[in-house]
Amino acid sequence: MARRASLDTELFERLAWLIRLRWWAVAGSAGLLALGWFVYGDQLAVGRLAVVILVIALYNVQFVLYGRTLTAEAVLADGGRDRGARTVRAERFACAQIGLDLVALAALIHFSGGAENPMSFFFVFHVIIASILLPRRISFLMATLAALLFGALVAAEYGGLLVHYHLPVLGDVELVNQGDYLLLLAGVVTLTLWLAAYMTSSISIALRARDRELLARHQAIQDKSRELEMVNLRLRRIDAERTRFLTLVTHELRAPINTIHTCVELALSDYASPEKQREILQRVQSRTAELSELIGDLLRLARTREEAGRDEGISLVAAAEVLQGVVPLMRAEAEKKDLFLSVDVDPGLAPVRAHPDRLKLIWTNLLSNAIKYTEPGGIVAVALKQTPDHLVCTVRDTGIGIPPEDRDRVFEEFYRAENARALSPVGTGVGLAIVRRLVENWEGEIAVESELGLGTKFTITLPRADV
Ligand code: ADP
Repeated sequence: MARRASLDTELFERLAWLIRLRWWAVAGSAGLLALGWFVYGDQLAVGRLAVVILVIALYNVQFVLYGRTLTAEAVLADGGRDRGARTVRAERFACAQIGLDLVALAALIHFSGGAENPMSFFFVFHVIIASILLPRRISFLMATLAALLFGALVAAEYGGLLVHYHLPVLGDVELVNQGDYLLLLAGVVTLTLWLAAYMTSSISIALRARDRELLARHQAIQDKSRELEMVNLRLRRIDAERTRFLTLVTHELRAPINTIHTCVELALSDYASPEKQREILQRVQSRTAELSELIGDLLRLARTREEAGRDEGISLVAAAEVLQGVVPLMRAEAEKKDLFLSVDVDPGLAPVRAHPDRLKLIWTNLLSNAIKYTEPGGIVAVALKQTPDHLVCTVRDTGIGIPPEDRDRVFEEFYRAENARALSPVGTGVGLAIVRRLVENWEGEIAVESELGLGTKFTITLPRADV
């Protein structure tokens, strides 16, 4: 960005430099004039030359003021849309400065010898500056203007249209009458000016092209480094998530293992009666079963994480068929708890892109949760419908509900609401995390609505594979 800004302001900086340079030129000319006056006295048109130098100083003051407003506008509007318009204004400003300087130099030369004054070669400096600052065609225009000014001056003095001010250094030698010499001089000056314009603009065009190339490369590097920063940030987030997950897993595994360890120690001690030992071993058995369930869930969770973004195993699945496959087992479970399970599936549902076994896992998870967290006598209802773009599955129950403060957190790994823990101590808190990951892997969404003590409704939306 800094580089781009510097390129944009480059022309403005050079314009300021040109103005500073002019002060030096004014000072130098004034010094030379003083010296000339000292040496040649009235032989030199001191008054006229002084007026020209004063005019140069005055218009330079105007340039300083205008240059300031131009730079201020550029700084204020840095990167704005009218950058092109500002550049055109800056170029016109440069043209005006160089054009006026050419006229002023012609006047200085005229009042100090005309063709006799070797200062005529100073026109070259202006052409070089024009070629550095401005497009090539304008630098040639400036070279031509300088040549015309000089040619016209020499011709006018030769033809007597303009008064000739003799250069005292030449003594009696009068060059102003030497027509052939004047023609040769004007020709050489013109050629020199054009060559200067050609050579300088060739170099500055190449330099500008290199500048542009460097700028493009700089921009590309900046874009790449921004991209890398994003990737780095994502990797750091993944790493932090992994660490958090590992801590949670370790914590969840430690509790049942500690219980098992304590139980085994108790069972091995001399104080445990055979009945007590049996009771302890039963506790070990149930803890081991919980542990095994937790490990099963963790493996499933790891698999769903790993499957994210991969198409492996994904096919066109009839969600209704998969649901019908789990209903008998779920109905048996529900009946064991004296619950009524209602199933409402619309006919002719479109397929979805999913993994059949994982979809079965989703239906099983949601239905067994609904059964687990609903008191006997309640209702569990599952429905499958479709919208123009999606397949929508709802699993609702008349169970304990989820407290409002827990609603957003039930999809986190190992998170269990207090009321769920109280009703059913058995549970890993991993099921819904798996369900959410699977649904998201298939570009679907899951949402929960719940009323504490009245019931819960989970809604899963999956994109239809036929649209
Ligand atoms: P688990 O059922 O093993 O505790 P889940 O990940 O399946 O783990 O569910 C996470 C938590 O979400 C549960 O502990 C419970 O607090 C809440 N929950 C899930 N389904 C229901 C439901 N149908 N009714 C009430 N609470 C539920």
